[in-house]
Amino acid sequence: MERKVRVRFAPSPTGPLHIGGVRTALYNYIFARKHGGDMILRIEDTDSRRFVPGAEEYINEALAWLGIGIDEGVREGGAFGPYKQSERRDIYREHTKRLLDAGKAYIAFDTPEELEAARRDTPNFQYDASTRGRMRNSLTLPPEEVKRLVDAGEQYVVRFKIEPGREVKVNDLIRGEVVINSSILDDKVLFKSADDLPTYHLANIVDDHLMEVSHVIRGEEWLPSAPLHVLLYEAFGWTATMPQFVHLPLLLKPVGNGKLSKRDGDKLGFPVFPLEWHDPASGEVSPGYRERGYLPEAVVNFLALLGWNPGDDVELMDMATLIDKFSFEHCSKAGAKFDYKKGLWFNHEYLMKLSDERLAELFAPELERRGITAFTPEYIGRAAGMVKGRANLIGDLWEQGDFFFKAPEEYAEKDVRKRWSADTPRIMEELTGVLEGIDDMSSANAEKIVLGWIEEKGYHLGNVMNAFRLAVVGSCRGPHMFDITELMPREEVVARIRRAVDTIPVPEG
Ligand code: GLU
Repeated sequence: MERKVRVRFAPSPTGPLHIGGVRTALYNYIFARKHGGDMILRIEDTDSRRFVPGAEEYINEALAWLGIGIDEGVREGGAFGPYKQSERRDIYREHTKRLLDAGKAYIAFDTPEELEAARRDTPNFQYDASTRGRMRNSLTLPPEEVKRLVDAGEQYVVRFKIEPGREVKVNDLIRGEVVINSSILDDKVLFKSADDLPTYHLANIVDDHLMEVSHVIRGEEWLPSAPLHVLLYEAFGWTATMPQFVHLPLLLKPVGNGKLSKRDGDKLGFPVFPLEWHDPASGEVSPGYRERGYLPEAVVNFLALLGWNPGDDVELMDMATLIDKFSFEHCSKAGAKFDYKKGLWFNHEYLMKLSDERLAELFAPELERRGITAFTPEYIGRAAGMVKGRANLIGDLWEQGDFFFKAPEEYAEKDVRKRWSADTPRIMEELTGVLEGIDDMSSANAEKIVLGWIEEKGYHLGNVMNAFRLAVVGSCRGPHMFDITELMPREEVVARIRRAVDTIPVPEG
């Protein structure tokens, strides 16, 4: 029988979610939705030293912003909880004991100093079949001594007893069969008495098993752990229900070689986090896609194509289309270059599709931040709609359309030199009269009347229109002049022309 698809995104709350982690979450989500399965969010917080306050909330907020829905988790609940590893101590304790009882794991008392000495004495020391016989553990000490030490509260770890010389096969949906020899693995620590908690490896596979996870979809950096995980499934006798592994390709630097890092983002000016992150310890603020003015649907589309393609040339795909088209067959083994400029392109494309209403919602906070609150959503939306063609990010709407919200404080010098001549003030004064006489300021009508006046007077069309623009906008840029004056209140247009006449010095001669 086909197994029900159940996937999990299993971040550790050690800081803000990196954009690579977001892509992992996205692929899990898309895959779950495609197969009518369940998406689990499991918080892997067994490493208390690396716990960062606020990280879990950040993860929730980021996934919600991107539309990555969770079916089971800390907040959502579900039949397989708790979904936070620090609340599953009993389960891990019991499973550790199972391995100990079956002789598949052992207790080791070696102190950091003893381990240090072993590393010094033996080149390339590894705690494994070749060395465990001379270390201080339950394989070398008499059982009474082991019991005495444990009872006395001596700190210990539980190590996985790896049998050397075995071929371990990891079946990966993207990479095919990966085979390694078990002799290269060390006897990994599975549990630490000091904090009464398991390590990542034990907790991760116990939970995947108990939560009936069908596919483990995660970043390539976890591939080296997979053979160990296969051996753990075996040791527990769970091979029949072992999940299918899928290790996603790395995200690479936009330029040069290697893994994408925060430093690349800082250097080239793009965020590597979905949301802005305020580091609670250092106070450092790292930029996020949301605050930079990206749209969640654009970020989703951009990330989905980093490591996967639909098999055709289509690039613009909303979530529903991604779910429809997705398959691991079209995922690449090779790392995906993080082409952040492509991200801007996606954002532009999605911005172009937004209705004026939605633009107004997104742009209003930007205006508020600048103390601009006097405009209706309708005005904001129409203004944004007129300039969105030249914007990639929400913030660009301000650079392109600031004049809709405030009169120019200065006039572009170059344009003044070119377009403001001795008779301009008089013509502009005349223009205010023409504008005041128009009943219907709709773009087409105003254009007809103003152009008719220019022609009748024999004025130079380019000079008059550019001077007009200079007065209203502050420079010779922006959308169609009569679209601007259709939206902007007429008194404002007239006042701006008068102000330009009063302040722009008339050239001599
Ligand atoms: N807690 C691991 C992480 O932070 C999970 C890796 C996995 O998915 O197995 O990425």
